Amino acid sequence: MSSKPTHEDRASASGEGHAQPAAVSNFLRAVIENDLRAGRYAARRWGGTPGPAATHAGAAPDPWPVRTRFPPEPNGYLHFGHAKSICLNFGLARDYGGVCHMRFDDTNPTKEEQEYVDSILDAVRWLGFDWGKHLYYASDYFRTLYEFAEAFIEHGYAYVDSQSAEAMRASRGTLTEPGCDSPYRERSAQESLDLFRRMKAGEFADGTHVLRLKIDMASANINLRDPAIYRIRHAHHHRTGDAWCVYPLYDYAHCISDALENITHSICTLEFENNRALYDWIVEKLADFGLLAHPLPRQYEFARLNLTYVVLSKRKLIQLVEDKHVEGWDDPRMPTLVGARRRGYTPEGFRAFAERIGVSKADSSIDLSVLEECMREHLNESAPRRIAVLDPLKLVIDNYPEDAEENCEAPNHPQKPEWGRRALPFSRELWIEREDFAEQPPKGYFRLFPGNRVRLRYGYVVECTGCDKDAAGNIMTVRCSYFPDSKSGTPGANAYKVKGNIHWLSARHAYAAPIRLYDRLFKTPHPGAAEDFVAELNPDSMRQSSAQVEPALREAQPEARFQFERHGYFVADRVDSRAGAPVFNRAVGLKDSWRG
Ligand code: ATP
Ligand code: MG
Repeated sequence: MSSKPTHEDRASASGEGHAQPAAVSNFLRAVIENDLRAGRYAARRWGGTPGPAATHAGAAPDPWPVRTRFPPEPNGYLHFGHAKSICLNFGLARDYGGVCHMRFDDTNPTKEEQEYVDSILDAVRWLGFDWGKHLYYASDYFRTLYEFAEAFIEHGYAYVDSQSAEAMRASRGTLTEPGCDSPYRERSAQESLDLFRRMKAGEFADGTHVLRLKIDMASANINLRDPAIYRIRHAHHHRTGDAWCVYPLYDYAHCISDALENITHSICTLEFENNRALYDWIVEKLADFGLLAHPLPRQYEFARLNLTYVVLSKRKLIQLVEDKHVEGWDDPRMPTLVGARRRGYTPEGFRAFAERIGVSKADSSIDLSVLEECMREHLNESAPRRIAVLDPLKLVIDNYPEDAEENCEAPNHPQKPEWGRRALPFSRELWIEREDFAEQPPKGYFRLFPGNRVRLRYGYVVECTGCDKDAAGNIMTVRCSYFPDSKSGTPGANAYKVKGNIHWLSARHAYAAPIRLYDRLFKTPHPGAAEDFVAELNPDSMRQSSAQVEPALREAQPEARFQFERHGYFVADRVDSRAGAPVFNRAVGLKDSWRG
């Protein structure tokens, strides 16, 4: 039975040029510009709601010169690949003064759920797109789709086939051999109509009959060998309940949904290329019957997004969740949009990424670092700077008075003076990074070691005098003395020339916060191609620790993003943070430091 192709069906999809996105190119722009110039869609009418030709007849011209759609099946969470499709469909509509429909392709009752519908709408909105009034469901067209199917029967272009599924498969032929006709193919329209109505009335069990189009069992294109368009499914649908027990198949429902909605450019991924002939056949026949009107929508295929170090197959993502390799669909390591959001990735970053990689017809694989760089660029612009010490070690300034404290001033963004400065409390005992002290400095080490001077960023210059160790020889405290006339921003500061500049926090003022450092989920670039992709998981994809952070970060709201100086971009987790107790996730480091 013909069902929706998956990208895994495409044997040729492995031709991998590592596309280094150079010039932005998008062949669909040329297609749309040509169509607009030629006025190809100018004759469309719009009756205000989707529907067959009769709904639009006599209505005013369609106000939208271009209509695209994003048509997910509500059977999973959206991933990075969907983000490409969303940016493309909504972006083209926006750029050409058109509209993009949000449509759920909910024709398969058994796998679909409201939970997915909600999360998909949320993700599209989060990416920054708005479908206005144009939220549609293929299930809203069940009545029309059914009536159109009766029309196909009446015109002699469809028949009820009562063969078993195995017999149907066996008579379908192969890529090199034609199929052969079903013994039911010449059933009268009368008999098929009667059977189809009884299928709908619930008289038959699942799998006993299907409705097939009568096209050509010898066609070189297997999709045209009398594809099934309706099957019996005694199943509850998340929107239509138990109203139906026959459900349309994807190829049939999709092209008709496009036509009912006056879609102009129906954009999909390459695995649907061989379905286009069927798409055209169906809508053209319906136009011949007078049920649809010209101009009809046209399908265009583009190369799906593949990313290194990532799997985007829904089946594999489900496996990662179900077998608990990750903590859920929204685990910040997952390539889902809910995961990315928790990770601290930004909608602006995704939109920039979609622009940068362009749209082509050639399969390729984009390096994950391109996406990370897009996130980094937007976060660099938008994230205020803060201080966090991820691996804290105590630094004591022996010549600073015990109970004294004062403020140092740090800019909230080095290139944006208008964002102001904030006070960083300074006192005798500080937290510094453990790696910023070395008892025996390696060559070229400019940070703290006995006898060396460094600047405490935004504060004083200090000179290291030694360290205290516990009985096992672990370094517990570093000791130093400071130069009272060296404070940053004071006239004396320039007299001190030091090579090292380290960050710090006042131990009395900082507080401990949970931090999660994420790394790539897979350790090899093409996990999807491996025999067992689970074996390619990176065992160190998450490290959890307790960091010392600036006191003001206590008030960070969920989803607030920051640059922790020298450590990268972090977000207050929207799930695990509590009022006054945010948990921070690292979105990306400051530079591409992946050495895998
Ligand atoms: P399945 O086919 O198993 O349901 P899917 O990921 O293709 O999975 P859909 O709900 O069909 O899910 O996808 C909705 C839209 O997103 C489709 O138009 C599809 O072409 C597009 N899409 C899906 N994956 C990618 C990808 N990796 N790159 C670009 N577009 C994609
Ligand atoms: Mg798909």
